[in-house]
Amino acid sequence: MTDRLSRPERRALQRQDAEILPLPLSMGTDPRPAAAHVRHVIHLLRGVHSDSPCSDAVAHVTALFDRTVSPQPPTPLACRKGCSHCCTQLVVLTAPEAFFVAAQLRKRPNTVAAIIEAHHRTQGLAINERLQSKVLCPLLDDAICSIYAARPLGCHAFVSTNLEACLATFERGEVPNIPMPADYVSVLYTCRILLLAALRLAGLNSSVYEMNAALAVILAQDNAEARWLAGEDVLASVPATAPPPPQFNDAIAKMAAFVAPTV
Ligand code: SF4
Repeated sequence: MTDRLSRPERRALQRQDAEILPLPLSMGTDPRPAAAHVRHVIHLLRGVHSDSPCSDAVAHVTALFDRTVSPQPPTPLACRKGCSHCCTQLVVLTAPEAFFVAAQLRKRPNTVAAIIEAHHRTQGLAINERLQSKVLCPLLDDAICSIYAARPLGCHAFVSTNLEACLATFERGEVPNIPMPADYVSVLYTCRILLLAALRLAGLNSSVYEMNAALAVILAQDNAEARWLAGEDVLASVPATAPPPPQFNDAIAKMAAFVAPTV
């Protein structure tokens, strides 16, 4: 598919997408369901009437993740409200995810101060050093994630079927070996691909950042999201994490190439 779509073809595609979008994501080899979500995420990122297009786009992807993973995996999840052992990890996220989190924090100066302090304590630490440091996520409030609905995709997907494995990793500093349902991993992978493909096709920066560093910079600026959407690199001072591995990068490029003629 290389030519632009005709108007009837575009209408037929819109009808097809409208049927796909409310469903859980089909995880087969057919790229069309994921492509429908890529088009929709691009549409949301271009939302001229929205206060936060990034929040709308990320909320769509995280809701898709939530309705696609199995609500009752073969081995039940050990995760419970108030259990936050894993919230000492390094969290990475895209700029739109960071804007979604930041949008929850504008009237929470104490949390903003806690983010800046946590950033100063953790900046430059490698993943293992970060685990050993046991610095709690500044978004925790009495062991509960205070931005739960807006937490980054990686936090949505980080679950465990074994509390003892979490205690070994996060409390006793043993080699991480957290068992999680296979579909959480594969659905996270696909949701990340479609979000990153949408960012590339929308001409936006698809870099990934450490959460505290990105939030500290965003929360110190006015209109950071609008300026980022207009093409200004408001996160230029935040080091991006390592680029995606080649296989993941190829999957993003393939999805973007599949969708490109239809946007
Ligand atoms: S954002 Fe929420 S879920 Fe993620 S590490 Fe922080 S407190 Fe935990």
